[in-house]
Amino acid sequence: MKKIFIYLTVLATSTLPQLSFAWGADGHQTVGAIADALLVGTKAGAQVKALVGNSSLEKISVWADCVKGISPEKDFAYTSTGRYAECAPFETASGIAAMADYVKRNDDACHRAAGEESCHKQYHYADVSLQHTHYQNGYTGTSDHDVVHAIQAAALVLQGKPQPSPFDMKDKAEALTLITHYIGDIHQPLHVASVFLNADGKVINPDEVAHDQNNNTVGGNALQCPCGNFHALWDDMPVQFKHGKMNGMLIRKARSLTLAAAPIDALPVLWADDAIRDASLVFGGAQFSKSTQNLYGSNWSIGLPLEYEKTMQNVKEDALARAGAHLAQLLQAIWPE
Ligand SMILES: [Zn+2]
Repeated sequence: MKKIFIYLTVLATSTLPQLSFAWGADGHQTVGAIADALLVGTKAGAQVKALVGNSSLEKISVWADCVKGISPEKDFAYTSTGRYAECAPFETASGIAAMADYVKRNDDACHRAAGEESCHKQYHYADVSLQHTHYQNGYTGTSDHDVVHAIQAAALVLQGKPQPSPFDMKDKAEALTLITHYIGDIHQPLHVASVFLNADGKVINPDEVAHDQNNNTVGGNALQCPCGNFHALWDDMPVQFKHGKMNGMLIRKARSLTLAAAPIDALPVLWADDAIRDASLVFGGAQFSKSTQNLYGSNWSIGLPLEYEKTMQNVKEDALARAGAHLAQLLQAIWPE
C-alpha cells in the first residue's frame, strides 16, 4: 500500500505534559448530550438533575479540562480566562475558587516523579502498550491514578462510598462532573493505549523488553504526522460532528448498542480493553521513522496509509456513541430503577 510520509520537525515531547484535551470540547459535550438524552425519564436522570441543577451532563463534561487553567506554580491562579469558550460558565469568582480548590486537593498526592504533571492531569489517561489485548494493573503506562482508576473512584463517590488515595473528590456533584469527562476520555484510543518505539522506529513491548521512558510515544504526543501532533489529530472531532451537529444520529446509534454487563468497578476496565483494541486500527498500516531528539526527548514521524481519514472517522463515530451509552449505563447502574 502506498504510504504518505512527510517528515516534520515540530516540537513534540515525551517529558512535557500531555497536551491532551481529548475529543476537544465538542466531543466531550456530545458524549454528555448523548447520556442526557438516554437518561430522560429514568431515576438516574432525576439524580443527575438533582446534582447539576440547571446544568446538564453536556455542559459539565468539559470542566475537568477547564481546571487545567489553574496553575499550581502561580499560587493556584486561573490563567486561561477567556481562552476557551466552553469554560466561560465556570469563570465566575466562585467557579474559579471551586476549580482552584479541586486542583489543590488533586495536585501532588499521587507522589509524582520529577517532571511528571499535576496528578489531576494524569487522571485523564493511561499509556498501555498496544500489543496487549487487555488493560491490566501493573502494565507499563498504568497507575493507581490513571483514567480507569479515576472512573472507579468517581463511581465510588457517587455510591456514597470512600474513595482511594490520591483522589480527592469533595462530593457527588464534583464526582459526576469528573466521571462525565473521564468516560469521554477512556473512549479516545490514544488516552488508553500508546505505541512504544525504539530509536529505529521499531515497535517494542515495554512489558517484555528492557526499555526506558524515551520509548514511550506518550499517547501519540511524540509522533508527528503530516497534520502535526498525532494525539491532537485523534482528539479533534470530524468537522461534520462539531457543534453537536450529529448528536441526533449518535443518540440513535447509542440507543441501538448492546452493552456488556459487568459490576460497576469492572466497566471501565472493559472500556479500556475496547480502546486498546481500537488502537490497533489507529496504528494499522502506520510506519515510523527513526527517532530524532529534541530538548524534550524522542520524536518520531508517523506515516499513515491512504484512506486513513475514513478509518479515523469510523472509529471516532463509534467511540463517541459508545461513550455516551456507557456513561448512561454506569449512572443507571449506580441509580437503578
Ligand atoms: Zn481529558
